[in-house]
Amino acid sequence: MATAIYPGSFDPITCGHIDIARRAARMFDRLIVTVYDTPSKHLFFSTAERVELARRALEGIENCEVASYAGLTVHHARSVGASVMVRGLRALSDFEVEMQMSHFNRKMDPDLDVVCLLTSLEYGFLSASMVKEIVRLGGPSEGLIPDFVAAAIHEKVARTAGHRSNEQAKEG
Ligand code: ADP
Repeated sequence: MATAIYPGSFDPITCGHIDIARRAARMFDRLIVTVYDTPSKHLFFSTAERVELARRALEGIENCEVASYAGLTVHHARSVGASVMVRGLRALSDFEVEMQMSHFNRKMDPDLDVVCLLTSLEYGFLSASMVKEIVRLGGPSEGLIPDFVAAAIHEKVARTAGHRSNEQAKEG
């Protein structure tokens, strides 16, 4: 039985990620979409929120599950019995990063192979960071993220703004 992991920040999950997950799920017996707990980037959603949004977005894919992990991806892959790591490629810039990461990972675990899937044409320009910014500024998100993900972004922005004004009121 071939198990693959699809690791990433998923902050939040987008239609580009969903497309890669759907296609990868057809290639392997079991696909685990794994939300990286502490990537070296500023996070908008907590790990629990990112997992919850990914679970909702992927619930229709039978052989796909969602988990989270901390530490090295190769250790996580081994702990769940995965022999393949799936990643998505949008542009040449992604390729360079993925190639470097893949060499590092192969050095740490030569039994773990990386399979990169090319993005579908309509998601080639789509990144989680850009879509977050657009939605926060009131732009459209149709076809980029599921509606419930857009709602979660709006809710988080409103909650953060509320929290900030409470803090300011306390200080003032
Ligand atoms: P990371 O922080 O590990 O890059 P991301 O959540 O940004 O995590 O992305 C996870 C994976 O999905 C990466 O391999 C990334 O290249 C890929 N990916 C991101 N957006 C898209 C997209 N629009 N189409 C295809 N793959 C994508």
